[in-house]
Amino acid sequence: MDFLKLKNSFSSLPNDFFSFVSPQKLENPHLVCFSEKCADLIEMESSNFSLQECIDVFSGNTVLPSSLPLAAVYSGHQFGHWAGQLGDGRALLLGEVVSKNGIWELQLKGAGSTPYSRRGDGRAVLRSSIREFLCSEAMAGLNIPTTRALCITASKDSVYRETIETASVVTRMAPSFIRFGSFEHWYYGENLDHLKTLADYVILNFYPELKENENPYKALLSSVVKKTAELIAQWQSVGFMHGVMNTDNMSILGLTLDYGPFGFMEAFNQGQICNHSDDQGRYSYVNQPHIGHWNCRALAQSLLPLIGEVEEVQAVLAEYLPTFRSKYDELIHQKLGLFTKYPEDSKLIDTLFSIMQQSRVDFTLFFRRLSNLEIENFESNKTIRDLFIDRVAFDDWSVQYRKRLILENSEDLARKIAMNKVNPKYILRNYLAQIAIEKAQNDDFSEVNKLFKILESPFDEQPENESYAKLPPDWAEGLEVSCSS
Ligand code: AMP
Ligand code: MG
Repeated sequence: MDFLKLKNSFSSLPNDFFSFVSPQKLENPHLVCFSEKCADLIEMESSNFSLQECIDVFSGNTVLPSSLPLAAVYSGHQFGHWAGQLGDGRALLLGEVVSKNGIWELQLKGAGSTPYSRRGDGRAVLRSSIREFLCSEAMAGLNIPTTRALCITASKDSVYRETIETASVVTRMAPSFIRFGSFEHWYYGENLDHLKTLADYVILNFYPELKENENPYKALLSSVVKKTAELIAQWQSVGFMHGVMNTDNMSILGLTLDYGPFGFMEAFNQGQICNHSDDQGRYSYVNQPHIGHWNCRALAQSLLPLIGEVEEVQAVLAEYLPTFRSKYDELIHQKLGLFTKYPEDSKLIDTLFSIMQQSRVDFTLFFRRLSNLEIENFESNKTIRDLFIDRVAFDDWSVQYRKRLILENSEDLARKIAMNKVNPKYILRNYLAQIAIEKAQNDDFSEVNKLFKILESPFDEQPENESYAKLPPDWAEGLEVSCSS
């Protein structure tokens, strides 16, 4: 049992911040998959995953001697409305590993009920655990800040959702799982002492450079606003849709957090909603940047008593949009292989998204194929052109794009190499996840493991996995992702 030694910093916070909870056992747990990269981050030998005692720890059947499992309390705004107290209803913090790669909290998601479970059972189903595992590691592969996933363990124990499914546990890792909603909890609970304690804890542990600042709480808000704006710019740049950007799912470290009904853009549609419970499209692709701002405002409101002046808070919030725009602009230029910036570029970019929308062009395939374009050989655009229903619209755009490339003396090979470093070939398409899930539900975990490996290196060509980079098959069209998880 000494393959991991944990510390328990979070539990040094006042008792009101959490409840100590023992995980509930699963019958005969087994391993579904694990990430070697995550094991490396916490300096844990991957060979441990062949030991039953390791499976027992990550399924919650055994508690490590150094662990003090706890569920944290938080609140939040859900779909724009104050939801009051929420908290870790099915997640348990085991403690943190201090490694040469930093401090990593380990959390079991799906290890049973807690005082914050409300009407939930505290469990997670295999389907949703696989989606979270694959997407966390896919996002890491895309170099987008995210919580990580160390492993999935599972059992035949029944879990009741729309149908009867089986239980599983994802072990997540992050420096911290503290959310915007953790601050809202104390602000709306009118406990300013705890609010300050939380802010001081976050600054001390995760933003130590802000400690000496004249107004550290303002500096904290400013850092979080910046990280959030940049994170969402990165989501937009790969077509990632979170689906449930409630303030309780917003990380204080600017990480992508809580994978539920997320999706990656395939046929381009600005208004796409990936969460079927989101009738109004509050969290649609095009709305994500705006909601990021809304959420930062909710955080700002909660930090106001510590910061002092409304004007100071407003000044910080005003940084959100320019930060988002500048990061997004930078990323889109990279995606287009443009090394310089001109004011007229915005027209080229707007026209592109408008014709992609009209032709419902596959987001990932388009940008990946665009790197094949050769300035002196326009025939090279054929596979790109084929993605458009309105080919004339594409032809018109590509003439403008070519002119723009010539304007900066773009060189085909250098541009292609640069573009392929930012435009992934492989993303977690819903149908790919679905195939892996269905196999896993029949006790075959080979596809989860294969897909996971592919997504760890999304920018590599991987010619042997070409079929994973194709357009989704027709049957994928009607695929609905259940929101119950
Ligand atoms: P989410 O939007 O999925 O991140 O979850 C919102 C809240 O519901 C959080 O407090 C979760 O812990 C809680 N929750 C979600 N599913 C369950 C479940 N099966 N059992 C207990 N609590 C849950
Ligand atoms: Mg959540």
